Amino acid sequence: MAEASWEVAINSKWCKKCGLCVAFCPKKVLGEEMGAPKVLNESLCIGCLLCEMHCPDFAIAVKRRDSK
Ligand code: SF4
Ligand code: SF4
Repeated sequence: MAEASWEVAINSKWCKKCGLCVAFCPKKVLGEEMGAPKVLNESLCIGCLLCEMHCPDFAIAVKRRDSK
């Protein structure tokens, strides 16, 4: 079975640095750096979309990468 690969993007213009995405990510893909969320381990992302669903500012987007 092909492994899914996910792309996690944070729009820093919309992000208000509330930290919710970091708190909800079950795989520690996201971390905080100087008070702002950062994508640290994108390869660990399982595409659960918890970060996207909890972001109050629609500042985080998770997309499936084509494996082709
Ligand atoms: S989709 Fe899930 S695993 Fe991936 S960064 Fe968001 S919360 Fe973490
Ligand atoms: S949940 Fe959204 S607004 Fe809050 S830190 Fe994450 S990306 Fe920024």
